[in-house]
Amino acid sequence: MAAEIIYGSELAQEIRSELKSEVETLNGQGIHPKLSVIIIGDDPASKSYVRGKQKASNKIGMDADLWEYDSTITEPELLNKIEELNNEKSVHGILVQLPLPEHIEDQKVIEAISPEKDVDGFHPISIGKMMTNQETFLPCTPHGIIVMMERAGIELEGKHAVILGRSNLVGKPVGQLLLNKNATVTYCHSKTEDAQNITKQADILIVAIGKPSVISAEDIKSGAVVIDVGVNRVDGKLTGDVDFESVKEKASYLTPVPKGVGPMTITMLLHNTIEAAKRIHQ
Ligand code: NAP
Repeated sequence: MAAEIIYGSELAQEIRSELKSEVETLNGQGIHPKLSVIIIGDDPASKSYVRGKQKASNKIGMDADLWEYDSTITEPELLNKIEELNNEKSVHGILVQLPLPEHIEDQKVIEAISPEKDVDGFHPISIGKMMTNQETFLPCTPHGIIVMMERAGIELEGKHAVILGRSNLVGKPVGQLLLNKNATVTYCHSKTEDAQNITKQADILIVAIGKPSVISAEDIKSGAVVIDVGVNRVDGKLTGDVDFESVKEKASYLTPVPKGVGPMTITMLLHNTIEAAKRIHQ
């Protein structure tokens, strides 16, 4: 039986229309959620991501201002700008687009953002709260993956979830969120021996490596849920880490690339910014 394909693009539209209504309600109470995005340098991919975030914010009636700096900006200048935005009452969420130029320390910048406005969920306080299952801003891609599975009606509790990849951005946090949902979690990474033996045991397989088609039908258990986080460009075409055609014949659920996890990431950023506005005005 062929897998049910979970289109994050459709789900994202559904959630964004719910968020739009929420923004309208907040506007009626005099609350205007606002995101501030800082981008440094002229990397075309980063520029396109931030424009996407701004456009998506505006589409649900939310303000998003963009602060663009040349890559010659110094670390103290950037930290000063963050401090200014931390203190700006009309701003509820702050996001600094990574990667940063080499002379600026990522971690210093992440830690400069007030945890109350940390809508990317990368601040150590946000991560610590996530680890201890407290309410906080969850990192957008991992959160989007959980929401996708929950809305598709996939049971997480008691299931064996295998995560391929252990980055701070995706692998580690998605495993933690699954643990918080009472799944049993195994991580695999580049040093894992006999990873295929482990992936074949997965009820839920999350693949976040960044290498095209590393997972095919022989690597999964029949009926597994397979979430493909990878974004690769092969011959100019976007493709995931999973061999879609073979896996779709064996999995129960599968996400495509594009139109899968990607659109959920921005949606969760919008969600976090609205939450930040609600919390600040509580
Ligand atoms: P990353 O920082 O490069 O991490 C890759 C991880 O994969 C590392 O933990 C690495 O292990 C592991 N790995 C590499 N080769 C492996 C192998 N053969 N078997 C098992 N594990 C292996 O990447 P990332 O930031 O997590 O991103 C992963 C992918 O997701 C990329 O394609 C990225 O573009 C995509 N992504 C998509 C979204 C979205 O919104 N759709 C968001 C973020 C990322 P070690 O730790 O041992 O090196």
